[in-house]
Amino acid sequence: MTVTQVSEKVFLLDTHALGNSGTVAVYALKGAKVALIDCGYASSYEVILQELSEIGISPSEVRYLIPTHVHMDHAGATGHLLKHMPKAEVIAHERAVPHLVDPTRLIQSVTSIFGEKLVQSYGQPLPILQQKITAVGQEMQLDLGGMTLTAMHSPGHAPHQISVLVEEEKLLLSADAVGIVYPNIPTMIPTTPPPSLDPPKLRETISRLSQLDSRKLLVPHYGIRDDVVNVLETTKNKTAAWLSRVRELRKNGVSLDEMVEEFQREVVSESGLRTEDFPRYARLSIRITLMGMLQYFEKIP
Ligand SMILES: [Zn+2]
Repeated sequence: MTVTQVSEKVFLLDTHALGNSGTVAVYALKGAKVALIDCGYASSYEVILQELSEIGISPSEVRYLIPTHVHMDHAGATGHLLKHMPKAEVIAHERAVPHLVDPTRLIQSVTSIFGEKLVQSYGQPLPILQQKITAVGQEMQLDLGGMTLTAMHSPGHAPHQISVLVEEEKLLLSADAVGIVYPNIPTMIPTTPPPSLDPPKLRETISRLSQLDSRKLLVPHYGIRDDVVNVLETTKNKTAAWLSRVRELRKNGVSLDEMVEEFQREVVSESGLRTEDFPRYARLSIRITLMGMLQYFEKIP
């Protein structure tokens, strides 16, 4: 399944990121105006255009592209989509704007962390004209016509992240403020990638999101969750638990590779999967999460 209807006006698009279904979602909100929350990897933009056409949305109807933060899986395709969407403007956090205008430093940083080969599969983000972008500070409201969105700063996973609440339906598009809940893996993997993880800010963000009283969570990685409080609480607790273990293992000289093995064993056992059925993309998610934690402890031991 590629498109899932969440409600009358809300759709989940599966970007089939890097060939894997059920890993990176983009959400289409169809008020009188159309907004996309997140844009996926640059290499996914054609899939998104295709899926929009399946639900009868033409590119010229899209008015807002809202990458929740400038990681490649959320913002990579923004410039590509914009080229096909003449009436669209971009809404992003003010700290994301410089990277959307000139992605050079972002690409360099991502390449130095993840390596050339992986970053090639992500595709190259295109630069976006400054005048096409509206910056969000702490909070901003957007009227789609019959749908009111509140975009709010939600740092921690990244300093340039926003979450979006659909006010009328109380749907919370959390961005990566919540952990990874892949449909094929019935447990959670915290998401704390390098280079700008801030655990205290992440905790604050989760507390704030918990007070919104939202009815459903629309998670980028991946899907629709009714158990909002559970997902937010689990994110807070599991991230804290992994962080304290990583700190300890690091002190004891345990290598990243060994940590990946250990945490993967645990996730596999929690999810009830067999090791041979555990997907590679999930193994990579664990690795990236541990890399972010290790880098954080290098700065703040
Ligand atoms: Zn992400």
